[in-house]
Amino acid sequence: MNQQIHLGTDSVSLYMKREDLLHPIISGNKMRKLKYNLEQARLENKRTLVTFGGAYSNHISAVAAAGKEFGFRTIGVIRGDELAAMVSLNPTLEFASKSGMHLEFINRGAYAAKDLSQLQILKNIGLDDCYVLPEGGSNRLAVRGCEEVLVPADNRFDYICCAVGTGATMAGIINSSAQHQRVLGFPALKGEGFEKGIYLYTDKTNWQLISDYNFGGYAKISPVLVDFMNDFKQNTGIVLDPVYTSKMVFGVMDMIKKGYFARGSRILMIHTGGLQGIEGMNEKLKNKHLPLIDY
Ligand SMILES: *Cc1c(COP(=O)(O)O)cnc(C)c1O
Repeated sequence: MNQQIHLGTDSVSLYMKREDLLHPIISGNKMRKLKYNLEQARLENKRTLVTFGGAYSNHISAVAAAGKEFGFRTIGVIRGDELAAMVSLNPTLEFASKSGMHLEFINRGAYAAKDLSQLQILKNIGLDDCYVLPEGGSNRLAVRGCEEVLVPADNRFDYICCAVGTGATMAGIINSSAQHQRVLGFPALKGEGFEKGIYLYTDKTNWQLISDYNFGGYAKISPVLVDFMNDFKQNTGIVLDPVYTSKMVFGVMDMIKKGYFARGSRILMIHTGGLQGIEGMNEKLKNKHLPLIDY
């Protein structure tokens, strides 16, 4: 569903694709990324999904919920062994655990190595029964799922805008975009080299990254962004997530203001979901005595 965003100016027309409404829990692009992977896991007769993530990961939350809904055992390998004692204080991990996910906390060094052979739980289950999903859920089958975000009717847009983590979601969107469309990706992380994650899965060239709106990096707290999210919700009824989509929407609004888009441009923003992360972010905001995200 594409929802029009009214701007109070008719210089461009702006819409939001509500991928956040795809599923009540397995949100937005994480659902798209899992679809063909779950099919593959079933095809291979695997009964256990194993994956990796940080303490606030939308992907961990999505895999836990998908396992519960579609009948897989799930194992989440979590970065940071200090978190083991804090599950009840972390809404994402608590949700995953309550959904039946076995959480295995490992130190950051071991996490970087992604060496599953060390995990005690796998000595019991056996690696043969496991379908391993990479961190963030990004692989070729995930990209295939994200190729279904755009539908033929979306051809009328001139610009498609989405948030970028690994870039797999953007690659899927690029693959199904029309040649006359330009896909703009907004990295939510600080740094460079995000193009690599996209080149990996697409040969097309009608895209570019806009790196001016990462707000200091992944999951960094920014009162300016929180203010923006709360205003946006007030004006449109749409809740944005604090890690990805909010930065992209902030960027698009800023670029509209600065005249980046030609008069009459039709712009489609993709809401990739991730609302489960708000609770965890609000905990952090509360601890710093900052205004909370309204949702
Ligand atoms: C994971 C995530 C992204 C980034 O997706 P990639 O495919 O890794 O680029 C964007 N938005 C939300 C809400 C996410 O949870």
